[in-house]
Amino acid sequence: MKWLLSVRRPSGRHPVLFPLLAMAFVAAMAACAQGPPSIDGAGTITIAGATLIDGTGAPPVEDAVVIVRGDRIERAGSRQDVPVPEGGEVIEAAGKFLIPGLVDVHNHYRDGLEEWSWGLQLHAGVLTVRSLGSDHGQTPTMIAEARAGNVAAPRIFTAGVGFSHPEGFPPGKLGPATEEEAREMVRELAAQEVDRIKMWVDTFLDTRPMIEPGIRAAVADEAAKHGIPVSAHIFFEDDVWQLVDAGVRSFVHGVRDGEVDDDFVAMAQENGLTFAPALGQAKTFWWVAEHPELLEDEEFRAGIQPPALERLLDLENRAAMLASESTAKRRVAFDYMAKFIRRMNEAGVVITLGSDSGAGNIAYGWGTHHELEALVDDGGLTPLEALVAAGAAAAAELTDDPDFGSVAEGNAADLVLLSADPLADIRNTRRIDRVMQAGVWLERSLPEFPQPAE
Ligand SMILES: [Zn+2]
Repeated sequence: MKWLLSVRRPSGRHPVLFPLLAMAFVAAMAACAQGPPSIDGAGTITIAGATLIDGTGAPPVEDAVVIVRGDRIERAGSRQDVPVPEGGEVIEAAGKFLIPGLVDVHNHYRDGLEEWSWGLQLHAGVLTVRSLGSDHGQTPTMIAEARAGNVAAPRIFTAGVGFSHPEGFPPGKLGPATEEEAREMVRELAAQEVDRIKMWVDTFLDTRPMIEPGIRAAVADEAAKHGIPVSAHIFFEDDVWQLVDAGVRSFVHGVRDGEVDDDFVAMAQENGLTFAPALGQAKTFWWVAEHPELLEDEEFRAGIQPPALERLLDLENRAAMLASESTAKRRVAFDYMAKFIRRMNEAGVVITLGSDSGAGNIAYGWGTHHELEALVDDGGLTPLEALVAAGAAAAAELTDDPDFGSVAEGNAADLVLLSADPLADIRNTRRIDRVMQAGVWLERSLPEFPQPAE
């Protein structure tokens, strides 16, 4: 039946296809009469009986059977369509919920803390990540080691080091003075085989100069020549228009300086823009202070660097966070961004999950789940839509024709088995029973913060 379904396109009744469909239907009916063919189970792991939420936005499949062979998903579907094979390992998962390994398109890793960060993400079922513009020190080497399988890590995409104004934020990024210099820097990144070019286009609450429009356009143009997509961190609506003109289609954060009008919505739809808002990161400046119980949360504590945790544990500091002028400005910006994401989502513009983990108070691993929660609570996505943002939509943002981010035949066997329903409450993505990466169940434990070398 699976095959018959895959033949039928939403566009429907093609006159030539119809007789073929009729024949296929008869053949499928005949196959059903004999029961679907079983496969040889030797060497397989089958997860049987869970509710499957496949990451594409398709309705959940109750009593699903997912068969894993090697590092791939061999079959996935309802028990009627996919019988449990004889001879392999079977995990009885009735009452549980199976989702694809989470995909997070916006992360920052710190020189020397990569293994710790990735360990936290694996523990949280975050199995694909993109490093977005902060690969300094040993980070590029560590990413190469992770890709070679020598360091336990999620699947990693990277933008290398990103662009900003020479005096812009964050410090230490690429700050070309001329368009030619910008092009040369892009060529160097292309030679490093980065997956993406990142630029920060923001004044950081009016404290820093923004990268010049001419430099932005030169970066985007040179990136296009090398076939590398660009992702821009944005704040102001005007910059989105200019960047789209320059060829940029992918954005992190969102418009935060006002409400956009119908022209903007139409422009976003026509150009296929994508937004990864990092709503959870945006509210972190008051979230922790308003939710001190978070400081008791083991996974939050484990994912924050000790000095930052010390500051958060300090009552006076928490009060100062709430009272500060910058927090007041950030709340205004946050409200605009939440409205913006609601509007984009309602208009069918693609929203992806990018937590900005590693920035501010965003704990690795925890941050991805916190962003899922924010996409629902603040961004207005349904839990099913949020799981697409962390599933098929995020995967499509990272690469053409991805083989991860959804539970589908032939895809990587990256799976998270939950003990509670994430569609009933998105917070249930944290109720993790088991995590499978490339067909292997992970030994889950929270990594210790690395001691500095003597
Ligand atoms: Zn960021």
